[in-house]
Amino acid sequence: MKFDGHVKLTAKAITRMKIKCPVTTGSCNAPMFKDDFRLWFGDSKQSTPTDNYTSAVFNYISNAITPDNISAVKLPDAVAFVDLNERWTHDDPKGQRYHFMRARGESNQAAYYNAINFIERHTFNWVSNARKILKFESAMYRNKDVKPLQRPGIRLNNYYVKELALALHSLQDSFSPAHTQRYTGQRRPTDQVVAGIIKSNSNVVMPIRNLYDYSAQDKNKHSSNDYSSGGPAGNWGELAVNASADLMILSIESLWKNDKGLTGWGAFKAKWLTARFN
Ligand SMILES: [Zn+2]
Repeated sequence: MKFDGHVKLTAKAITRMKIKCPVTTGSCNAPMFKDDFRLWFGDSKQSTPTDNYTSAVFNYISNAITPDNISAVKLPDAVAFVDLNERWTHDDPKGQRYHFMRARGESNQAAYYNAINFIERHTFNWVSNARKILKFESAMYRNKDVKPLQRPGIRLNNYYVKELALALHSLQDSFSPAHTQRYTGQRRPTDQVVAGIIKSNSNVVMPIRNLYDYSAQDKNKHSSNDYSSGGPAGNWGELAVNASADLMILSIESLWKNDKGLTGWGAFKAKWLTARFN
């Protein structure tokens, strides 16, 4: 997905997460889940070059958010910033998991496990950082009406936003036909969105058949697939939005449970990230 696509998909996913918020503690309204005022000059429902190059920048300037000022960042920006902040990942074999892709010479299986573990690890890092903040807050604001994760001033905040952003970035990228193959058949016509899947039924997810090697790709084709899948109104975008909302819900649920790992990770993986390689 492109820069503006990540912002648009994440913002929509947050709205959906709030509707299905699994806890009553206020965590779904933590500062990182609030959004800034945005103006899209292109099309708010699609990912467009106009928005990628101009209004995205405009939004950051008008809200005084730049990669150096990451402490002010909200989740949609943080997810998009991975492409700017972690530029090394585009060419480095070890960076492919940040974008759910495969390094040159790597097997699908190995690339897939790297990407899956990356998403799980960073989601769990968010959970454990957020737990630390909760502990700190309840010690600090004892006997007060504490709405957990509501104190944007706490320094740990920066880390925990970025952890969930890394996980969401890779998850969203996994729905771009430039990054993975989630359809069957030989050809990949541009109008083949998700075979047999309509937006209203975006709970049916095709297994991942291939992870692509960026170094071997036509960069223009990669780009145009990232645009077409990055729109929150398209079928791929719809899947990415729902998957992102589910990952946030899982994270918030895990935060309030004492489970060792992520609560419901197996089911999440089975639903959104199954693979079938042969
Ligand atoms: Zn990416």
